[in-house]
Amino acid sequence: MTAVNIGIPRRSPLPDVSGRPADPHLLDRFGRVATDLRVSVTEKCSLRCTYCMPEEGLPAIPRALLLTPAEIGRLVGIGARDLGVREVRFTGGEPLLRADLAEILAATRAAAPGLPMALTTNGVGLDKRLPALLDAGLTRVNISLDTVDREHFARLTRRDRLPAVLAGIEAAREAGLTPLKVNAVLMRETLDDAPDLLAWALDAGVQLRFIEQMPLDADGVWSRESLVDAAELLAVLGRRFELEEVGRDDPHAPAEEWRVRSRGATAPATATVGLIASVTRSFCAECDRTRVTAEGSVRSCLFGDDETPLAPLLRGGADDATIADAWRAAMWGKQAGHGMDEADFHRPKRSMGAIGG
Ligand code: SAM
Ligand code: SF4
Repeated sequence: MTAVNIGIPRRSPLPDVSGRPADPHLLDRFGRVATDLRVSVTEKCSLRCTYCMPEEGLPAIPRALLLTPAEIGRLVGIGARDLGVREVRFTGGEPLLRADLAEILAATRAAAPGLPMALTTNGVGLDKRLPALLDAGLTRVNISLDTVDREHFARLTRRDRLPAVLAGIEAAREAGLTPLKVNAVLMRETLDDAPDLLAWALDAGVQLRFIEQMPLDADGVWSRESLVDAAELLAVLGRRFELEEVGRDDPHAPAEEWRVRSRGATAPATATVGLIASVTRSFCAECDRTRVTAEGSVRSCLFGDDETPLAPLLRGGADDATIADAWRAAMWGKQAGHGMDEADFHRPKRSMGAIGG
């Protein structure tokens, strides 16, 4: 077992920006432009998914190091106004565990009016929080759910909270937050539950997307050999559904869409299921993401350990232009891809819950 991956981010020197064109956007050396911002707001979580968190949870980030709603609002405002950010998604850990999440959204809306604000959540407690979040400007929500088998859910997440997740999904649907995306990580233990999960999603009218597990579990047990890949999933789903590939409507969208209908059904297939083959069919060449950790460091890639702390600038009186330049420099240094297929691949030091997925 490897050490738990979190801590005060390493202060890396700003990447060398020689050769960078004088362009305000978040460019990198491989011709990509980041426009999709993910902001982690906490390392805490109400679940302990085995592919993400250690059983005891991640070590707590000292409260004073967490960005405040005003700081998050200021950063997102700089992103939207000066750097070309077109959408922000709040994540974690579990963002609903920030009691001030509505304040974070409100501060962001004030700093970046009109910017779509999404949430990635496990759904636990969402039903109760949703009205305040909607009032604060939330526009979209993605919910994570790997199986609708209660016992399997409890084993995989180490918490018996399936009913709470389903209540969260129902509340989001009732609030009209559509299209509602539900993300499921492909795990060997729940692979046989995939057809039931898809049948549930079709019935509930939510867009299900399966994601290949990445080597970002805090326990460090991921292995390429035991990976459930997209091909294996399609074989399992194919026993019960007819599937037809429709591809991607947006080249930056990570999910490949498949039209789906139950075997034997006569009506034309209108529903789709998404497949995010992050390991076997990497979309790094099209990546348009930039990430900010809960302590305010820019992380240009999930798989790169280099982080550029913006908190000292935010808290040290720097003006917006200086912060924007540091962010641009951080993204210019983004690596080409996750490198999982290379012999010298190293897992990142932080796990998914500590980066913000
Ligand atoms: N707690 C929230 C949730 O679960 O939606 C937000 C944070 S979670 C880290 C964000 C997303 O990352 C979830 O959809 C989760 O399933 C996914 N995830 C976590 N660990 C992963 C891994 N090792 N490989 C692929 N996806 C992972
Ligand atoms: Fe928590 Fe989300 Fe990680 Fe599961 S995937 S442990 S819900 S942060």
